[in-house]
Amino acid sequence: MQERDVFNQGLMSFLQSSPTPAHAVLTMTQHLQEAGFVQLQEGDEWPFQPGQGYYLIRGDRSLVAFRLGHESLAEAGVRMMGAHTDSPCLKVKPQAELVRQGCLQLGVEVYGGVLQHTWFDRDLSLAGQVYFRNEDGLLQSALLDLVEPIAVIPSLAIHLNREANKNSEINAQLHLPPVLGVATEGGAGEFVFRRLLASWLKREGHLLAEVIDYDLSFYDTQPPALVGLEKEFISSARLDNLLSCYIGLQALLATDQPQASTSLLVCNDHEEVGSASAIGAEGPFLESVLRRLSGNEQQYQRMMARSLLISCDNAHAVHPNYPDKHDEKHGPKINAGPVIKVNANQRYATSSETSALFAGFCAAAGVPCQRFVVRSDMGCGSTIGPIAATRLGVRVVDVGAPQWAMHSIRETVGSLDAWYLNRALQTFITQSDL
Ligand code: ZN
Repeated sequence: MQERDVFNQGLMSFLQSSPTPAHAVLTMTQHLQEAGFVQLQEGDEWPFQPGQGYYLIRGDRSLVAFRLGHESLAEAGVRMMGAHTDSPCLKVKPQAELVRQGCLQLGVEVYGGVLQHTWFDRDLSLAGQVYFRNEDGLLQSALLDLVEPIAVIPSLAIHLNREANKNSEINAQLHLPPVLGVATEGGAGEFVFRRLLASWLKREGHLLAEVIDYDLSFYDTQPPALVGLEKEFISSARLDNLLSCYIGLQALLATDQPQASTSLLVCNDHEEVGSASAIGAEGPFLESVLRRLSGNEQQYQRMMARSLLISCDNAHAVHPNYPDKHDEKHGPKINAGPVIKVNANQRYATSSETSALFAGFCAAAGVPCQRFVVRSDMGCGSTIGPIAATRLGVRVVDVGAPQWAMHSIRETVGSLDAWYLNRALQTFITQSDL
């Protein structure tokens, strides 16, 4: 097996084991611990040892990990990589139980920009955090993943809506609650979701008295797959943006040789809903870590002036069936390398300087790269790059692997592109000059 195939297998198993941001953070910390990274707590005094790797978790769903270099931070700056842990999904409401037409259903809230029609007719499972009181009355939490398909959102038959292929408006309140079962005779009143949750937790060995609260979302149980005549594509849920989390993690883990400069990975939750939260990119998480690392204001400012953040988030590849959705000169191709995202209106934080630097890392890594600019008559998406640039005043380049079907329950990337981006990031963090 080629190195790239091993890498892609690792990516696919990461996607599979990370149905929610909390699972992604847990999986990443397991990799970090295996590589000797030490967990820090925000409430403790931090010991710093050059060459050592450290990581912090906020809210179970955002992560900062770094390996200290041997040069002073003020002299060498920090080579930073950023991504987001969240993906659009359907979250279970607090009072979720619905019994309609004899069917047991759960009310759901739409998280982020879900491409809703793709969620129909899928074998859905449920995962996330549950808070419960144990038998001694203490509050505890558990990470739950049911793995098995337990729900489906059935489509309406075309016979009942002849216009379905032309016009099928989805009302999220009415049409998205997944069906979990059929109410049994006289048993409709028994459908208490928290009780169901308690029985699932007990089956996993938790000693609990009562479920208090939860943050649970549905996900597609179909595992990631290599697709195409020559396996050119990776098809999976949550490629946006767990692919970037995985690539950033692998780049950071590859820094096991003594490095001159410090390298850092930040993976934030809440990008899909605008990043404004205590654990999102607009919050103080990354900045507070950097300030504590630097020691004092003078050092902090010197360090930031010499740093660069590569913000990684997937880019829209040109679609062969919808080619007119891209600018004719800026339609990124699948398997043609990382995409540098440019927007004059600062929806992306890339500058000509940071674009040139990133193109240089790609060239040094022997990897192709491409550039994306949205059509002039269309609005442009955004990501954590401009938010981090605004918050920190640091140089940022927005890049990402090209993909199709962004925010679908099942997205597609090229099987070369994750590897290409990984090579470019590894060159970045082992490169001495910025
Ligand atoms: Zn994204």
